[in-house]
Amino acid sequence: MARYADAKCRLCRREGMKLFLKGARCFTDKCAIERRNYPPGQHGLNRGKLTPYGVQLREKQKAKRIYGVLENQFRRYFHAAEREKGVTGENLLRLLELRLDNVVYRLGFAASRRESRQMVAHGHYAVNGRKVTVPSYLVKVGDAVALRGTKYEARLDDNMNAGRGAVPQWLEVDPAGRRGVVRGLPLREDIQIPVSEQLIVELYSK
Ligand code: SF4
Repeated sequence: MARYADAKCRLCRREGMKLFLKGARCFTDKCAIERRNYPPGQHGLNRGKLTPYGVQLREKQKAKRIYGVLENQFRRYFHAAEREKGVTGENLLRLLELRLDNVVYRLGFAASRRESRQMVAHGHYAVNGRKVTVPSYLVKVGDAVALRGTKYEARLDDNMNAGRGAVPQWLEVDPAGRRGVVRGLPLREDIQIPVSEQLIVELYSK
């Protein structure tokens, strides 16, 4: 399973905004965006104005980086979104939201999608009572996502108590049971990420 293994904060600096890739650190003044809010690299401070293509590219990169998805997989999501009925851009974001690692993060069980991805991959979550170790597993309406075993109970409770924000309406969380249920499909207004999906559609439609 390929994954990005370089410095995460570089990704935020490249996009010029916090993408919240590192959990608690993102809320402290150690955040690289607080300290050096300019693109990384030798010429980071000298980058010129973006072309229209550059603007579209940055939106796509931002979405990929927020969800921790690499190019080939992201493109597969896009083609799947194209095949679905409705607005392609919204379909794309919905597919990304329904990934199991994202659902664990949205439920507040993990401090970052990176952490949720690792917990899922290490077999600490079950969907409808069955262990699932694939972070990209797409949940369906009615699915119950629950922590398995006791190893991460304290960590999960800490994450839920950190008050990172409200659980979206399409999910229902049972903190005591350390489980959540998918109540419906996420609507565009439920997906609070700073991405213009239409620009991604335009980029891939060239
Ligand atoms: Fe991004 Fe978090 Fe690093 Fe800040 S600390 S630059 S928000 S990953």
